[in-house]
Amino acid sequence: MSEFEKQLTAELIRLGADLTGFGDLTELSPHVRYKLPIGISIGVRVPRDIVRGIAEAPTLEYWDYYHSGQQNLARIADAGAEFILAHGYKAVPMTGKNLQRVNKLRHALPHKTVATRAGLGWVGKCAMVATNQFGTAVWFASILTNAPLTAAQPINESRCGACMACTRGCPAKAISGRLWQADMEREEFFDAEKCAAVTRERAKALIGVDYPLCGKCIAVCPITRRYLEA
Ligand code: SF4
Ligand code: SF4
Repeated sequence: MSEFEKQLTAELIRLGADLTGFGDLTELSPHVRYKLPIGISIGVRVPRDIVRGIAEAPTLEYWDYYHSGQQNLARIADAGAEFILAHGYKAVPMTGKNLQRVNKLRHALPHKTVATRAGLGWVGKCAMVATNQFGTAVWFASILTNAPLTAAQPINESRCGACMACTRGCPAKAISGRLWQADMEREEFFDAEKCAAVTRERAKALIGVDYPLCGKCIAVCPITRRYLEA
């Protein structure tokens, strides 16, 4: 690791990151990556108590965390980008207006794409990034940059194997059980619209929140459970 890579990683951890990695994005359209070659992936784990609470149904605690967790990730990405800019390189935090949407359920450059390119995990059957450290109980933010960072080996294939825990546990039947590969569209293995519709209904009925909130697939994942028990 170069001195700058060490300093940047230390700064992101100081800001609150639990996972960091650098990915080569040059195979992606220049338009979605602001013509910048490197994506920095930042992961923050979801606290154990919050994850334990959503094993059966969404909770108000998870709803509160949903907001504070997203704000925290945006804060880390914004401050990380400032750090890079202060060292004389370009940096675009993928927060707020910088996030280009394809539709209401999809970003042009999903954080999970940057995370897999940065070698931090693979896309699980439930369409969340699955990591060895925290299972799917980790959320991601990204920064795009031209800083001289050494890209990790990307992960291009699922490591879920024969596990069907999230497929079986999903109340929306949105998870097909098919294994992800980097060249697949999400629709080929996961029905995001079904997930959004059923989770909104359930969250409204169970905790009075008119928002698609669930997370059961996070809690039932055996790799997440390893994190919970650690
Ligand atoms: S969030 Fe809930 S409904 Fe959506 S995929 Fe996960 S378990 Fe299924
Ligand atoms: S529950 Fe199993 S199939 Fe689903 S993401 Fe976790 S390891 Fe993969």
